[in-house]
Amino acid sequence: MSSILVVGSVALDSVETPFGKVDEALGGSATYFSAAASVFADIQLVGVVGSDFQLSRLDFLERRGVDFAGLEVVEGDSFRWAGVYEYDLNTRRTLSTELGVFADFSPTVPASYRAADWVFLGNIDPALQHAVLDQVESPRFVACDTMDFWIEGARESLEKLLGRIDLLVVNDAEIRELAGEYNLRVAARWVQERGPRHVVVKKGEHGAVLFSGDSVFFAPGYPLEEIFDPTGAGDAFAGGMVGYLAYVNHENDEELRRAVVFGSALGSFACESFGPNRLAELDENDVFERVAIFREMTRFEELAPEGA
Ligand code: AMP
Repeated sequence: MSSILVVGSVALDSVETPFGKVDEALGGSATYFSAAASVFADIQLVGVVGSDFQLSRLDFLERRGVDFAGLEVVEGDSFRWAGVYEYDLNTRRTLSTELGVFADFSPTVPASYRAADWVFLGNIDPALQHAVLDQVESPRFVACDTMDFWIEGARESLEKLLGRIDLLVVNDAEIRELAGEYNLRVAARWVQERGPRHVVVKKGEHGAVLFSGDSVFFAPGYPLEEIFDPTGAGDAFAGGMVGYLAYVNHENDEELRRAVVFGSALGSFACESFGPNRLAELDENDVFERVAIFREMTRFEELAPEGA
């Protein structure tokens, strides 16, 4: 199995949706990414938690092949995030972000991770994303996520990071804010001009668009009948994408298109429960079954014009 190095938040999330509420559930960008990507690859995680964190909450990920040698436990409070979703689950409001031990974190990538081919820089301070990348010898493919908090608070560092990555995965509001441009195609080009060949723009339940060089590919969102909590769907999407690429061990344009569908499939599973529980119980077959439904959902026969 290929392995993927991921850095990101390991968090305690308090989330309210129209369908329920949880307090201090396991969350974080690295957690959701790992829960999804570990269906297809071994994961090497870099992050930090505080002394208040119950490490046994990560046991299910360890059983799935996530290596926690790069997770530091430091005296202090863990990262905490609180958010609320109104009836439109595509828009959420952050109530609070408490960085806790992440504020002074200086990541050390374990020697056993440094030869990583596949790297995912999960949503976290761009300075930490740089610091991790500095310690990886010669990564083959680097994907990266971010959010408004860092676009507003660490723009310079983030723009520099674009020059070091192959794929940026963000949502529509984020890329508009980053590029200062409403039109997604123009915004994606703005990003591509600064480094990454590939840009994925996630549009919540409405799917995701891949911009690769000059080409555009679109995958719909999976029409779930019941959604509990979209938190982590974006990270699970990235986990599905990068996990799939590592699994097939290719990153050409054809595989990237397929990877977007795997991302959409994993993103949809993430919404089926509060926290990463649903992702934790998935196996490869569940994912392939859902991907087959995507194919069915988007298949149509082209009609030749009359007289052709
Ligand atoms: P997503 O819904 O995929 O965008 O990711 C939500 C996850 O990101 C939650 O589990 C949060 O703990 C985590 N998160 C929220 N804000 C931040 C932030 N500023 N930096 C890092 N992680 C965050």
